[in-house]
Amino acid sequence: MSVQSCKRCNILFRYPDVGPQLCPVCMKKDEADFEIVRQFLTEHPLSSGQEVHKATGIPIETIIRWLKDERLVSIAVTGILKCENCGAPILSGKLCTECRYMLAKNFKGVAHKTDNPVHIKTKHELQGMQFLNKHNQS
Ligand SMILES: [Zn+2]
Ligand SMILES: [Zn+2]
Repeated sequence: MSVQSCKRCNILFRYPDVGPQLCPVCMKKDEADFEIVRQFLTEHPLSSGQEVHKATGIPIETIIRWLKDERLVSIAVTGILKCENCGAPILSGKLCTECRYMLAKNFKGVAHKTDNPVHIKTKHELQGMQFLNKHNQS
């Protein structure tokens, strides 16, 4: 538990150190906004961040925050997210595949020279993003 400023309204609140850094009021708004974007992406899959922003009025910064939180995943490398370690453009989260791999390897303390990092291949025509849904079968 620590006191942090809310990422939406900047008021200080008691942050439980997990989950989005939002005050309880904004947390509810954020959930409602996410639901709007989720609905929109269900009806208009592969929309770009700009399209989502125009259609829903949700600020781009909020969409980027969801990408960083891995609630949304960008299908194409849009260049809006960069690896915090090496600066390479990434799809979601905070680190690129290679840096994640390096960190995981260093963390385990085992180096297998034959292991290659997995590169995500993205098709140029697949501009846009989808929300992460690990349980979605369709
Ligand atoms: Zn707030
Ligand atoms: Zn990196």
